Amino acid sequence: MSELKLCQGPECHTYTTKDRLKGMKDNKTYQTRRRSSMYYGSGNFCSMQCYNDWAETFIDRAVDHFGRLTEPKHLNENNAWTKGYDWDSDYTNRLYVYRNGITKEQRSLTKEQFDDTNYTLNER
Ligand SMILES: [Zn+2]
Repeated sequence: MSELKLCQGPECHTYTTKDRLKGMKDNKTYQTRRRSSMYYGSGNFCSMQCYNDWAETFIDRAVDHFGRLTEPKHLNENNAWTKGYDWDSDYTNRLYVYRNGITKEQRSLTKEQFDDTNYTLNER
């Protein structure tokens, strides 16, 4: 059996749904949800409400911690490559391509390059 994770929503236990009411007969309390998998916020939250509650509480500190932008980023020909694919003429095989959003240049990719999250033509 997989391990249960706790929802990270700071208010999760305050939403009085039946599934959150846990405990022995005369000692039930509303509790933070536990699940083997959750769909929101990279698997950390049981609902969008809990995700939003976390963001309301912690987002400023999180942005400051990981680096707040202080000037705009610029898209240019050196960082405008995005991966994508087309279909071949009988729509049976994917043709992987890198497309430059500025120059509109296209280059072929192998499936391995497409799947490799570290492979990029963009300057870092
Ligand atoms: Zn929750």
